[in-house]
Amino acid sequence: MERSYHGKILHVDLTGGRTWVETPPESFYRKYMGGSALGLYYALKEIPVGADPLGPDNVLVLSLSVVTGLPISGQSRATATAKSPLTGAIGDGQAGGFWPAEAKAAGYDAIVMKGRAPKPVYLWIHDGQAELRDASHLWGKITGEAEALIRQELGDKRIEVLQIGPAGEQLVRFACLINMANRANGRTGLGAVMGSKNLKAVAVRGKDRPRAADPEALQRLAKWGAQNIDRTMGTFPLYGTAETVGLQQASGGLPTYNFRQGVFDRFQDIDGVTMYDTILVKRDTCFACAVRCKRVVDIQGKGFEVDPLYGGPEYETLAMFGSNCGIADLAAISKANELCNKYGLDTISCGGTIAWAMECFEKGLLTAEDTGGLELRFGNVEAMVEAVKLIATRQGIGDLLAEGSVRAARKLGRGSERFLVAARGQEYPAHMPATKRTLGVIYSVNPFGADHMSHEHDPEIEGEGPAHERLTRFGILNRIPMHDMGPDKIRFALYTQYMYSLADSLDVCQFVWGPASWSPFGPDEYIEFVRAATGWPVSLFELIKVGERRLNMMQAFNAREGLAAPDTLPPRMFEPLSGGPSDGWALDPEEMKQAFRTYLSMAGWDVETGAPTRGKLEELGLGWIAGRTG
Ligand code: SF4
Repeated sequence: MERSYHGKILHVDLTGGRTWVETPPESFYRKYMGGSALGLYYALKEIPVGADPLGPDNVLVLSLSVVTGLPISGQSRATATAKSPLTGAIGDGQAGGFWPAEAKAAGYDAIVMKGRAPKPVYLWIHDGQAELRDASHLWGKITGEAEALIRQELGDKRIEVLQIGPAGEQLVRFACLINMANRANGRTGLGAVMGSKNLKAVAVRGKDRPRAADPEALQRLAKWGAQNIDRTMGTFPLYGTAETVGLQQASGGLPTYNFRQGVFDRFQDIDGVTMYDTILVKRDTCFACAVRCKRVVDIQGKGFEVDPLYGGPEYETLAMFGSNCGIADLAAISKANELCNKYGLDTISCGGTIAWAMECFEKGLLTAEDTGGLELRFGNVEAMVEAVKLIATRQGIGDLLAEGSVRAARKLGRGSERFLVAARGQEYPAHMPATKRTLGVIYSVNPFGADHMSHEHDPEIEGEGPAHERLTRFGILNRIPMHDMGPDKIRFALYTQYMYSLADSLDVCQFVWGPASWSPFGPDEYIEFVRAATGWPVSLFELIKVGERRLNMMQAFNAREGLAAPDTLPPRMFEPLSGGPSDGWALDPEEMKQAFRTYLSMAGWDVETGAPTRGKLEELGLGWIAGRTG
């Protein structure tokens, strides 16, 4: 490759077993940059309005960016895009690891897959060649086994495999895509989309590595970033996201007992430091990343055995299967994490759905008769682990829970909707709006449902310090108190949402690429990076517009489906928390109502329908969508 991207998009018609290559012009790459924005371009162009997310008309896009695969920390991520079977709206998810860089080296910037194969297949892409191969013998296999078999039959141990597990085959609505047997394009159920297409895996291998337009500038930036890691990230590389358990507990923001409390009395048992001291055997990494934050645990003989091949739990997993289910058993949580990676389940939606079911069980809305005798109570370690297995295989009560908590509540009725903690059909992640209030807005307006990596959280604008310095680059000049929800706070949320949206279009890791104070790289380095990679003389304005464009493309997709209006907040968000520093805290309905209106008008979205206005789409160079959405 003579540059940082190929200029080639691989199209795959699974129904007819055909592949072909599209070569978009440079202007296409500069406008969308890759990742999520690029995937959305094809989702908007090729998915018919009203398409069944689990039908052949849905289109699944796997996309890399103009910077993927270059030798610098935090650039090896890939985006999956399709209509979501969980929410019915746009689906989107990123994952790191080694698959993204290897997929880039295999010869394409993105893979656009449509139709449904008549029998199970996998896609094998190597050095610019693409072929569909029989996967009948892989169907039903857990991820670790399928990966090993694919490498064995293709005769190369260095092949990277992105795949679904049995949960995707069973069309569990929060099934995910897994690579390296432990990295997940986790959210919005895109594993079920892949399963509905009879596509088991996408295996990649290649030698065509990207080249930076200015290799010296890139090397300087990579070196500076690596030297900056200890200063900015503190203990993060050592303890990973798992250290967030203790941090959330201290602020009263650790979801506990289905978001009824922000503190968990046994939080230390599931904290990152405890994990480090007891079961962690290795810190793993993504391609070329010097941070090495990924967890690998090995457990033998503590009631649960956990295979290190499947990694170890991140903060979200620790909180959702741990405190939120009233579980203080690190081995059990690690087992639940292992099962999710073996079967291909999103740990956040899985943990959130089980916590909802536990509350329903304790309140008598779900009975032992419904659960086949499973005592789904908070703190019941065995029941939590068993529930994960049942969901993955859609057996017993697992068949209902595999629909996700929102659909399950609709089917169950009995007033169980009252205990839902979800937005736009997707379960909340483990960050609480009662303590970080802009989350209440972003969870409900975010086009692909509740997500904690879609904007900067409130503490970053509360204090002075490096984050504040970075935020001045966006014209955000003043500190704003934690619980303030006025227009300045909403502007902070929206502008940083554009920045996060850019990160998902460049497919970079948001831990490494800020605006957060603790990220080694900030907005200025984004400019240097894209310039060094592509040679384009980009500005911060141009880059932020890429992020804003991607957000509007998602929302335009939802508008076509009649799903652009922000979701209402779950009733639980207005119930005061109990215990700890957040005791008595809750969201205020009137304040949130006003915050939604402020957000929508600032974003250039219709305050009633949530649809991007024609003017906003035209401003972003998306007139071709405006023509369709009216
Ligand atoms: S910071 Fe962690 S998750 Fe992000 S790229 Fe590096 S190793 Fe991967």
